[in-house]
Amino acid sequence: MAMKEIRFGSVDEVVSRLNPSYPVFVIFPDVLEKRATAFLDGFPGTVLYAVKCNPDPHVLRALYRAGVRHFDTASLPEIAKLTELFPDAHCYFNHPVKSRGALESASDVYGIEHYVVDHLSELDKLHEVVGTDITVEVRVTTPKNKSVYNLSSKFGAQPDEAVALLKEAHARGSRTATAFHVGSQCPDPMAYRVSMEVAADVVRRSGVPISYFDIGGGFPADYGDPIPPLEEYFDVIRAAKRDLAIDVPLFAEPGRALVADGCSVLTQVQLRKGNDLYINDGIYGGLSEIHLADLRPPVRAITRKANGVSDVGGALTPFRIFGPTCDSLDVFKVQFDLPADIGEGDWIEFARMGAYSIGMQSGFNGFFTDTVVQVSGASTISGF
Ligand SMILES: *Cc1c(COP(=O)(O)O)cnc(C)c1O
Repeated sequence: MAMKEIRFGSVDEVVSRLNPSYPVFVIFPDVLEKRATAFLDGFPGTVLYAVKCNPDPHVLRALYRAGVRHFDTASLPEIAKLTELFPDAHCYFNHPVKSRGALESASDVYGIEHYVVDHLSELDKLHEVVGTDITVEVRVTTPKNKSVYNLSSKFGAQPDEAVALLKEAHARGSRTATAFHVGSQCPDPMAYRVSMEVAADVVRRSGVPISYFDIGGGFPADYGDPIPPLEEYFDVIRAAKRDLAIDVPLFAEPGRALVADGCSVLTQVQLRKGNDLYINDGIYGGLSEIHLADLRPPVRAITRKANGVSDVGGALTPFRIFGPTCDSLDVFKVQFDLPADIGEGDWIEFARMGAYSIGMQSGFNGFFTDTVVQVSGASTISGF
């Protein structure tokens, strides 16, 4: 069945034609394709997109068009979705804790051959359910760094345990690999070097031949604070591969860096009380990262009059912004500078909201954004 793709020319056109009173998730496929192409061209290895970061099919299709064929998946529904969208997708079951039922279906129905473990009990479970003719990726915990989210506090084997897991998986006849995750929004390229040293040492001590060396995700997106360009990360990683004599292919699992600036969330003001705005999306919806990561994405206020759509007027003024649910926690800790004339019915576009947004909505209180549109080009909000 041929799919009809509708693309708007701009966010203003979305406002003008849809007059949306519900939040709209705006996707910029051109930006997504550009980011994916840059990562595929620059990273010295295989690129797996971390599906949890943004599982919207429009997003997945844009990345696929750019050439992404490998996907870091963490659940059966993610594996099913990717396999159905792209018959030639390669899915890796990279969650260190998997149910027996999910493992059985992943293997029998979807033919998954790559699985992550960080504990002997999980390795036992994996071998019992799917057998040993697989690649077992051993996830190693990594030293603390300046990432906004530290993922090694939940997953990853200590180096000694990781050595033992590699030996055991190999002894039972599986192919092996190693993985780690430096944490999301990692502002320091050297964190990859340090973690690669830890993982390379684990592999060396195990004496086991590995099939690939997975350096995970964590590459940052630009939210206004200065971050090094991706090229710097790739240079550090390339040098570490050489210095540590890693002679197997590298894998990376970027999420955020591929999708963050490829989407906006378009919200509407439902009520203004002084300098408090009540809008139709918030921390339980597509804007949860503003709360969790203290993000301050760039914003633009848009108004629609009889003579057309334009930016809201007035001097920039700090506003407190409340989300739509009845929970008093549903308010952003950070204030946003918006034009003084903003009022009920106007829209606020939150730019750079492609990562951990649409996929993290809770539906709490009946508020859920299901409206997704595609817009050509990039968001017109460029500065901060
Ligand atoms: C979340 C996650 C990623 C993606 O992380 P980003 O910070 O979005 O790049 C990659 N790999 C694993 C195992 C993850 O859990």
